[in-house]
Amino acid sequence: MLLLLTTILSAFAAEYGPPLEGDVMVAESAEPADTGVVGCSDLSLQDGSLLPDLPLFFNRMQPDHAWGTREMVDLIVESSRHMRWLLPDADPIAIGEISARKGGLLYGHKSHRGGVDADIGLYRSGGRQTPHMFERPAPGEFDLEANWMLISTFLDTGKVDMILLDRSHIARLRAYTLRAGLLTEEEADQIFVPEGKDSWGMVGVVRHVAGHEDHLHVRVLCSDGSKASAR
Ligand SMILES: [Zn+2]
Repeated sequence: MLLLLTTILSAFAAEYGPPLEGDVMVAESAEPADTGVVGCSDLSLQDGSLLPDLPLFFNRMQPDHAWGTREMVDLIVESSRHMRWLLPDADPIAIGEISARKGGLLYGHKSHRGGVDADIGLYRSGGRQTPHMFERPAPGEFDLEANWMLISTFLDTGKVDMILLDRSHIARLRAYTLRAGLLTEEEADQIFVPEGKDSWGMVGVVRHVAGHEDHLHVRVLCSDGSKASAR
């Protein structure tokens, strides 16, 4: 638990800064990305990386659409490995679509065009995930501890731009982190966009967008730490 707290606190210490030295995620991180590209696009994907098949950590629901930037692939591999260590009895994480090999329009999505967006399954009670589909947790079945660990692990990498989730789950997570003493109100406000403020432009990293009851959507930053932009 102490390690988790360290993990969580480091996410706030530097919202988009580098992870703290000595943090477990640093020790486990791959070499820094060296794509030679400054910035990245949210419309197309150049020199994309294919998310490897690592069934101990995660299941790829659509391998043809599992192409992402180096930062995205690193995020999923590092975070799912960390979750395996934190919750060894939990199921591998269901990974939905990222992008097509060259990016571009992906049927059924507004984004997912530049390899910087991924859909990720949510944990149901007991750390359960369905291998190749997203299942909406029934009321009372949302695994607060596991889902918060997953989100805080993502944030701890320093590679996350935003996480999209349904407001009902955001409210549950916010209440849980406060009740469990994991966050102060101020810290919670930095992470969770307050109820009723749904804009993508808000400060909080975890934001409500409709259609995210059975999965979360994570967007990564570019290799230089900038946000993906149209190019
Ligand atoms: Zn998505």
